[in-house]
Amino acid sequence: MNDYILRTVKVGFMNTNCYILKSKTSENAIVIDPGEDAIKIKSVLRDMDAKCILILLTHGHFDHILGVENMRTTRAKVAIHELDAHSLTEKDVFSSIIPKDDRPFAPADILFTEEGDYKAEEFTFSLIHTPGHTEGSVCYVFDDIIFTGDTLFKNAIGRTDFSGSDPEKMIRSLKRLYDLPGDYGIYPGHEEKTVLSDERKYNPYMKMFRN
Ligand SMILES: [Zn+2]
Ligand SMILES: [Zn+2]
Repeated sequence: MNDYILRTVKVGFMNTNCYILKSKTSENAIVIDPGEDAIKIKSVLRDMDAKCILILLTHGHFDHILGVENMRTTRAKVAIHELDAHSLTEKDVFSSIIPKDDRPFAPADILFTEEGDYKAEEFTFSLIHTPGHTEGSVCYVFDDIIFTGDTLFKNAIGRTDFSGSDPEKMIRSLKRLYDLPGDYGIYPGHEEKTVLSDERKYNPYMKMFRN
């Protein structure tokens, strides 16, 4: 993480963690999960002298995407896994509980279909497809930190009882995170950050992988 500056912005009534990752060598920044409060996120970007070049979405739930439309600029492309891409262009079952749902939004600019390494200006990251909470849930790995969205939380995991959820796929996705070599900082979509080594040891949903 030596090449980047990381800031967390709490957004929306679900208190979602929106993350801003800024380059140390330029004004370029990546915004992860602008779930609401685009004005607040933009003011933090201004404080950091940062310009958003890419918006990465961990999945398509409203509390991670509703700020997208107001964050978009000609430079700031929006990226999501193809299996959750419909969340931008359609209202969904959550619309009735959201105070204000401005969808449909414009479609994403970048649809992830494959895992692997990606590059945006000076940023490099790898994408792990971790279905379970939603079909198109992904984790973004930057150096030694992982943005896990609603897949892995500190001592908990994302719900698997929504439409599009799959408890069995969730177990396989958690096992993949469990099996990653080495340690990582874990930056989840809600609540506190943690480290993978602690989750391997203490997270009750990873208990089954320990021997
Ligand atoms: Zn979610
Ligand atoms: Zn969430």
